[in-house]
Amino acid sequence: MKLLIKKGRIIDPSQGIDQIGDLLVEEGIIKGIADDIPSDQYTKVFWAEEKWVLPGLVDIHVHLRDPGQEWKEDIETGTKAALYGGVLRVACMPNTVPPNDTPEITSYILKKAEEKGYVKVYPIGCITKGQKGEELTEFGRLKEAGIVAVSDDGKWVANSEVMKRALLYAKQFNLAVISHCEDPTLSQGGQINEGFFSAKLGLKGIPWSAEVAAVVRDLLLAKETGQPVHLAHLSCKEVIPFLRWAKEEDIPFTAETCPHYFSLTEKEVEGYNTLAKVNPPLRKEEDVLAIKEALKEGLIQVIASDHAPHSVLEKEIEFSLAPPGMIGLQTLLPLSLNLVKEGWLNPLKLTECLITNPAKVINVEPPSLKPGKKAEFIVFDPNKTYVLGPDIIQSKSKNTPFLNKELKGITVLAVIGEKIWELNWAV
Ligand SMILES: [Zn+2]
Ligand SMILES: [Zn+2]
Repeated sequence: MKLLIKKGRIIDPSQGIDQIGDLLVEEGIIKGIADDIPSDQYTKVFWAEEKWVLPGLVDIHVHLRDPGQEWKEDIETGTKAALYGGVLRVACMPNTVPPNDTPEITSYILKKAEEKGYVKVYPIGCITKGQKGEELTEFGRLKEAGIVAVSDDGKWVANSEVMKRALLYAKQFNLAVISHCEDPTLSQGGQINEGFFSAKLGLKGIPWSAEVAAVVRDLLLAKETGQPVHLAHLSCKEVIPFLRWAKEEDIPFTAETCPHYFSLTEKEVEGYNTLAKVNPPLRKEEDVLAIKEALKEGLIQVIASDHAPHSVLEKEIEFSLAPPGMIGLQTLLPLSLNLVKEGWLNPLKLTECLITNPAKVINVEPPSLKPGKKAEFIVFDPNKTYVLGPDIIQSKSKNTPFLNKELKGITVLAVIGEKIWELNWAV
């Protein structure tokens, strides 16, 4: 079958292109891009005027909650949410129940993703057994089973010697090491950003120093071992000068932020809004600004969702008892688009942060619109406004501060090989 995408704005960071044109797909393979490609009677034509055509997003920070917490999300619903968000590949964090610290769990995830998944799933394995921060997992066996990275996400590997050994061990297997940057001795018991709001609401605060202390230790270990560290979900302005320093020192690292850290401030938690409770916490206006500047400067190269589903029952309780986290797969691209609208990034730079750079972190070839590659792209309507009602959210959980809020930008078509989804959002 032939599929012809007509007159879209074709943006492909793998080739550095941003142009209006036609894209032809035959039997699930990209044939080429040109100003005008004629169709014949066997061609399915999709008009993409005023829309973006881009390779599927690669989200390297997603919690699918499967195995063990399927009431929050499972591999089927999580990957469906991804599909609707234009995310055609997800790397899933290992803090499942049990955690992904054995090849058996990795195989389970891959098998279920094969059977029920809508998009490609890359499992991430634990750094330490049971995420206890003590004993390293068997990186080699986990890699053989299919992991692309190791992380104890949810927890920071607080023992520096263990983390150093993890970096050296990961080096042998060419595995990315992803650090949840939070010194627990500083953040323990913390609920929201430390400062005016934590005082006003009478909640224990999480200081920025918890993040910075963790980042600096990890950068030092990356320098010492020569093995890159990927710094997950950075949120505060105080961390930025250290990234600049690390870059000047040629320390191998990559850094990530999430849309909520450049879209929302701690104000969201007013009224004890548990939907805005997230780890690290939402910070101040000046932090939001600093994160955007860091993206522009290239000090932060990856935007990931940190999609963290929690059920209504878990969130509709006393603030201090509610688990931190918000879903994010379907809001990843709409919120990131604001960086273009506000002039921080051009579309090519933005798509580097969402597609090629995250793929690089986990050492996989990014999806591309180059001729000969497997079709793996989306058509995105950046102008469509809609309300993010619970019915639109494909995740099992609806925990997002954007629930019932107006958003702009929506994925209207997703193509993976010969599979074509025209996404009907009923909006
Ligand atoms: Zn984390
Ligand atoms: Zn996470």
